[in-house]
Amino acid sequence: MGPLEISSAITAGGHVINMLRTTAEGVKALGKIDLVNQLMDVQLEMMKLLQEHQQLFDANRELQRTIAELAEKLKFQAALKFEPPFYYADGDKTPFCPQCWEADRKPIHLHGPFVRSAKHNYWWECHTCKRDFDSRKSLAGRS
Ligand SMILES: [Zn+2]
Repeated sequence: MGPLEISSAITAGGHVINMLRTTAEGVKALGKIDLVNQLMDVQLEMMKLLQEHQQLFDANRELQRTIAELAEKLKFQAALKFEPPFYYADGDKTPFCPQCWEADRKPIHLHGPFVRSAKHNYWWECHTCKRDFDSRKSLAGRS
């Protein structure tokens, strides 16, 4: 049952409660107090059902949001390319930290490159896991 169907069920339940209220008033006018009490019990049960429907509606919406987030993560993960020693996303020249990605699945951009020596060795820093990574390639060296 999708969110719109649940919402429709809640609206329909509200109509049923109104119909029960009108019926109870009619029965009360006839002096049938026992029937009025039974109708009031039915109204209470219907209100409980509506409350449960609302909770299901909210839970469903939260699940939909979680599914969308997970789908986005899977899409990102599938698009991430490993070019040792780093991971890269399409259209993004800044590498991601291999430690943060492989251990925690956190896509953390590295900072750099910083030149280590005149021999064109470089290093990149991760400000999250505080590791440095050596690389012979500079940013421009990514294929
Ligand atoms: Zn890291």
